[in-house]
Amino acid sequence: MSHTEEVVLRGLPISKGIGIGLPVFFSSHEEDVQELPISKKEIDEEIYRYRNALDLSRKDVERLQRMSLRDGPPEIVAILGTHLEMMQDPLMTTGIEDKIRGMQQKTETIFCSLIEEYKQRFSILQDAYFQDRVRDVVDVSRRILSYLRPVGRVRITEVPHNSIVLAHELVPSETIEANAILVGAFVTSAGGITSHAAIIARAKGIPYVANVDIKLLKRIEIRGAIVDGSQGLVIVNPSRATLKRYQEVRRGYLQNDRKLKNSSHLRGETVDGYEIRIFANLENPKEVELLRKSGAAGVGLFRSEYLFLFRKRFPTEEEQFEIYKKMARSLRGKPLVIRVFDIGGDKKADFMPEDRDAQYFFNIGSELNPALGCRAIRFLLRYPEIFKAQLRAILRASRFGDIQILIPMVSDISEILAVRAIIKTLREDLCKEGIKLTKEVPLGCMIEVPSSALMCDALAREIDFLSIGTNDLVQYVLAADRSNPNTADLYFSTHPSILRLIRMIVSSANQAQKPVLLCGECAADPAMIPILIGLGIRELSVSARHIPLVKHTIRKWRILEACRLAEGALEYGSAKELKAYLSTETVR
Ligand code: PEP
Ligand code: MG
Repeated sequence: MSHTEEVVLRGLPISKGIGIGLPVFFSSHEEDVQELPISKKEIDEEIYRYRNALDLSRKDVERLQRMSLRDGPPEIVAILGTHLEMMQDPLMTTGIEDKIRGMQQKTETIFCSLIEEYKQRFSILQDAYFQDRVRDVVDVSRRILSYLRPVGRVRITEVPHNSIVLAHELVPSETIEANAILVGAFVTSAGGITSHAAIIARAKGIPYVANVDIKLLKRIEIRGAIVDGSQGLVIVNPSRATLKRYQEVRRGYLQNDRKLKNSSHLRGETVDGYEIRIFANLENPKEVELLRKSGAAGVGLFRSEYLFLFRKRFPTEEEQFEIYKKMARSLRGKPLVIRVFDIGGDKKADFMPEDRDAQYFFNIGSELNPALGCRAIRFLLRYPEIFKAQLRAILRASRFGDIQILIPMVSDISEILAVRAIIKTLREDLCKEGIKLTKEVPLGCMIEVPSSALMCDALAREIDFLSIGTNDLVQYVLAADRSNPNTADLYFSTHPSILRLIRMIVSSANQAQKPVLLCGECAADPAMIPILIGLGIRELSVSARHIPLVKHTIRKWRILEACRLAEGALEYGSAKELKAYLSTETVR
């Protein structure tokens, strides 16, 4: 379709700001290769391309197998052997070639349908043998696919300046690599308000709109586009007048940002002098250096899983020790809360751990419902070697600063007790090895699952501090997927049930005399901040970029007003009415 008139598409606003630039279609998964027909003349060339990819993949596996034979676990050698056999099987050789001829489609299309077919056929069979076969097919197919389009794949780090990145979906490992100067904005078909990709986009200040029909955009001839992340608009081929208007709006945003930044050194206190401590949420350890300027009281949440999300393997104990030590030192005594790997959910890694079972979660993400699956502490307790290496690194680094450990996705007290027992044994081991340790490393628990919110009084007795993760708490309490745009209208942190739970958690923490911090995205929402303060929250942790805005908001309120506002909010039974109440009462 040729179309050069202005077209306005409405989507889900995810990250504020205005992006103006040229579009780049970005794809990282099998998503974009549904239908890639070829002509009869192209068949031979396509078969040659396939044979070449198969050959390179085979060499890859042979090399890996040689390496594993030397010092790898025998299971890996066996798996690689199976993969080699599969690549020599007529199904993979002549079978695929026949399909290319018969279906007249590119090999990518054929492989993607093969993966889908296998996944669907075997997803209902829980038998380990069948699950293994699916894993093998997916693994081999992905390897071949990666050779089929090594150059066709645009890396997010290589897009031109001011690109409007259009994709079906973004995963956190890609978003974290994005540079705000190169990426003017993100537009996706999938993706929810507090998906991890969304959190990173906001932390980087990259405007983002989700729930937009990318396939439709592909059919339009695009000369340029504007993304309005605040209103959730994508304006394709804007008229001159529209462009001018948006250039002004963007200037306004930038000026406002600069003004706020200049006040980042101010204290986060209410008009009547109540201090609210503002910490930073961090994904990239290098950014700890920049925190001093942001006015953070420390790191309230270091999402340590980002250490490996875009690497090819888990960092070793030694590598982690160096990273944590450096972070602790550069914070000069300010707290560094390291949340142990929150693996799973929408955080997909693009590497394969060596542990055969652990591969299950990374390779195909084939759990029927990953958000309710073997995520975070469940995963870590099931794969103790990965967990122990991380804990040892943290314990060893603890003498270089105020390091604290935070456990994600706790749903039962037994998980805390299990972690305490592991830490005790590790401390004894480290002492025997003559390694110096601090007296105790505080252990905290994330409250982000309904059961832990309801059992908060019991949990509070067992741990040293609590951290409320509203991003997940909202998802699990309201049964609304945080990454799904179709449930965005059901997902909101101002739901009365969430406010009640926060009040309950604060009260349990106060009774047990344990500190409680809130580190979900709503801690940076100017409409939510006074409510949180009114509910008794005295510590917030947000992306460093949002600290000035949070302080600015706090400085407009008196504590009594905030309490009254929260009391008023708790009266509401209907989420809709509560939302209306907040939108009128919190404007300042
Ligand atoms: C949360 O769930 O609120 C949280 C802070 O953790 P994450 O967003 O990393 O799941
Ligand atoms: Mg969480």
